[in-house]
Amino acid sequence: MNLLLENILNKGALGQRLDRVEALQLAQLKTVDEVHALGSAALQNRLKRFGRQATYVLNLTVNPSNICDSKCKFCHYHAAEDDPTAYVMTLEEILKQIKELKPKEIHVTGGLNKHWPYKKSRELIAQIRKIYSALYIKAFTAVEIDRFAKDEARTAEEILLELKNSGLNSLAGGGAELFSLRMRKKYCPDKIGPKRWLEIHHLSHQLGISSNATMLYGLKESAEEIVDHLLALRAAQNKTGGFSCFIPLAYQREKGTDENGPSPLKNLRIIALARLILDNFKHIKAYWPMIGVDTAAVALSWGADDLDGTLGKERIAHSGSAVSPESLSRSMMIRTIEAGGFTAVERNGYF
Ligand code: SF4
Repeated sequence: MNLLLENILNKGALGQRLDRVEALQLAQLKTVDEVHALGSAALQNRLKRFGRQATYVLNLTVNPSNICDSKCKFCHYHAAEDDPTAYVMTLEEILKQIKELKPKEIHVTGGLNKHWPYKKSRELIAQIRKIYSALYIKAFTAVEIDRFAKDEARTAEEILLELKNSGLNSLAGGGAELFSLRMRKKYCPDKIGPKRWLEIHHLSHQLGISSNATMLYGLKESAEEIVDHLLALRAAQNKTGGFSCFIPLAYQREKGTDENGPSPLKNLRIIALARLILDNFKHIKAYWPMIGVDTAAVALSWGADDLDGTLGKERIAHSGSAVSPESLSRSMMIRTIEAGGFTAVERNGYF
């Protein structure tokens, strides 16, 4: 390994800020030795922050409806109104699920549609809060907030404030996809762009609503596009400090096709890269539904410190090629973390 690369990895391991040129070098590593050195630097960084602890939460994912007016090409979850796979959950069904599973955190996101308009969605949050005062409610992506604001002819700020007053704790991190305009034009031209996504998260942080950040990868994006996405998130976090964690989302290929999704090694590389570049993000999540339970366990040695949660019933990754279970029990979550060589710590929505 050359001295320059060694210096960059040492800086990353110590949690020092990497510039774009340095970040790009790490995103373009070629040899197996170099890639393992990247993982080792991310492990050192992560051990310095969290020791041998890795967290998980008892949570429930609720996707109220898969009907979506947007037709992002990478998404196998959305359905048209008349599609046989289309579904719309009722408020009662959602409340029943919460009652049965007794989660500590709930995550609510879904398609853009007329079945779950703003007022009904706000009522859902208010009802949940009324019954479960201690439940951590993470709901809606910036894309959904933008849609609510447009439908209601109101500002995103007004919508966010009203949701907060109804009981919302934090915004979900989805919808960022990849900030690259080239990729968005190809895969999700109808979706709000990076400027609006970042603006809504900024507003949300200013109102005291924390949020997560994500990045979709595995669609033949370039190393520059990955690095620039991470740097844009790092710059946004510099301004507000409101992001709780970063979640890389591995592209799920369409079921039954021989399309290539990201390999386990690519998943680990992205997590390590995020750990070293996002020096101002405390938590990096290994999202097991998308990368698989085994890779998620290994990812704890590549920079991740959190395995998300038990989920209840995950639908979005599983509408693609995900072969992970739809939910994990608490004991399975603990076993997964221990199999990765770490000590499992149950957290709440606040980490
Ligand atoms: S990614 Fe979201 S906005 Fe895009 S089609 Fe799927 S559900 Fe709709």
